[in-house]
Amino acid sequence: MTDIQGLIDSARALYALYGDSILGNEIIADLLHTYKKDIGRTNLMMQHADIVATCSDCAKQGHGSCCMQDVEGWYDTILLLINLLMGVEISDSREIAGHCLFLGKSGCKLTARYFFCVNYLCPRLKSLLGQARAQEFISVAGRELFSGWTVEQSLRKWLNLHAY
Ligand code: SF4
Ligand code: SF4
Repeated sequence: MTDIQGLIDSARALYALYGDSILGNEIIADLLHTYKKDIGRTNLMMQHADIVATCSDCAKQGHGSCCMQDVEGWYDTILLLINLLMGVEISDSREIAGHCLFLGKSGCKLTARYFFCVNYLCPRLKSLLGQARAQEFISVAGRELFSGWTVEQSLRKWLNLHAY
């Protein structure tokens, strides 16, 4: 089982040591900016297409939400570090028992998320969106994921040169 607390601590340590230098790197800062914009596009579509409302309703029913505890274990130090670089405060305590550590009462507390968290369409969402709208969503979410991947690659390169 993944030691999520250990990964959070490692991300915080990297952020404390290198956060300012990383954010001072023009290339990484630009990539982070683009990634944030693309995340904003996905979030906007989730609101307009009623995905947010549907997922909130699902979460209120207690049993339905797909933000399972196991998912937190799919995160790694780099993705957590990206969240810290984006100003996210990562909490150490679980708000909702039996669910993902990053889940809050109003939804996910992370900004940069793992691909499952971004583009998973459960049967309820598939039926809500229909085929064409689902395709549109996957394409918007795909752009976010690609931007996240480019940030991750440059961050890994930067850390290899300066930190490891
Ligand atoms: S994606 Fe589906 S299962 Fe997951 S929270 Fe939304 S409605 Fe519920
Ligand atoms: S969307 Fe957020 S709260 Fe839900 S499983 Fe993913 S990281 Fe956890």
